[in-house]
Amino acid sequence: MEEYTQYLNGIWDRNWLTNNGPLVNELELKLKEYLKVKHMLFLGNGTIAIQIAIKALGLKGEIITTPFSYVATTSSIVWEGCKPVFADIDPHTLNIDPAKIEEKITPQTTGILATHVFGNPCDVEAIEAIAKKHGLKVIYDAAHAFAVTVNGRSVFEYGDISTCSYHATKIFHSTEGGAVFATDPELIKEMSFLRNFGHNGPETFATVGINGKNSEFHAAMGLAVLKHIDALLAARKTQAGIYDEALKGLRVQKQTIHPGAQWNYSYYPVIFESEELLLKSMEELNANWIYPRRYFYPSLSTLHYVEQCETPVSESISKRILCLPMYHSLKKEDIFFIARLLLRAQNN
Ligand SMILES: *Cc1c(COP(=O)(O)O)cnc(C)c1O
Repeated sequence: MEEYTQYLNGIWDRNWLTNNGPLVNELELKLKEYLKVKHMLFLGNGTIAIQIAIKALGLKGEIITTPFSYVATTSSIVWEGCKPVFADIDPHTLNIDPAKIEEKITPQTTGILATHVFGNPCDVEAIEAIAKKHGLKVIYDAAHAFAVTVNGRSVFEYGDISTCSYHATKIFHSTEGGAVFATDPELIKEMSFLRNFGHNGPETFATVGINGKNSEFHAAMGLAVLKHIDALLAARKTQAGIYDEALKGLRVQKQTIHPGAQWNYSYYPVIFESEELLLKSMEELNANWIYPRRYFYPSLSTLHYVEQCETPVSESISKRILCLPMYHSLKKEDIFFIARLLLRAQNN
């Protein structure tokens, strides 16, 4: 709070609250340096980031996407007037299965919107090859993938555009916030107009824009959190190791992480043998004031506003997956306590 308050004093001194202020600029510079990326625009949230990405690439018609993600991935496609077409996921990586993308391509397909689920990079090479072959654009919803690299390069630099969320529940956050990443400077320029009502001058407009900006107050929170990001990431890795140890006797499946990735350990998902066992486990945890999240549930292919289609892997996994508590001050004893409760639910 002290660190945050110092930034607030500066905002009061300058009387500059929003509209591309000095803290927004400082945060953009520091994040680009930390993440080793060429370009990034700081936005109001991770959902407007996806919407701006779809708009900037001019996607129309059908977008092939994953049914196993947060609802914002699908709702943004619908909001932009496009049709989400679901390709099922790989049961191990939990990411969209590239082999199933190709089956779904029609003359109306213009793009692919894939999520790096829990920060685990998608098969970016296979997706790039499919996109090249069929002339499709690629957007990655990289909301969970802060600081993740694949083959030594930021995962944010894959695809035409990557988006991130800096929401308070994410490992790096600015209270509310988000970003778009692209290596093409023309796309960045276009998106900088899109986020600011289309302005390309005080009285001129390059395009139809929206208000996708973020404020000095949010940038201040981002700058305060960024100072601690290495400690936040290190704690998550340690906690994941403790969970691995404590859960040895539990019959659950874990996510398979991309072999070329440096991962951020920001979530700890476990996949139970049945939904019944998941519900029993949640009940046991809730009875002890522990509230894990069914994430991602339900499968997005079951939303009432999309065309129904069969994605059996996503539907099965979304019913059986639970993200166990992960937060910076989570103690070793608490992890062992959670593990004991889960083992009790399994063995009773
Ligand atoms: C959090 C999240 C979003 C939405 O980001 P907001 O900043 O909350 O708008 C989109 N996709 C995924 C996968 C997310 O986890």
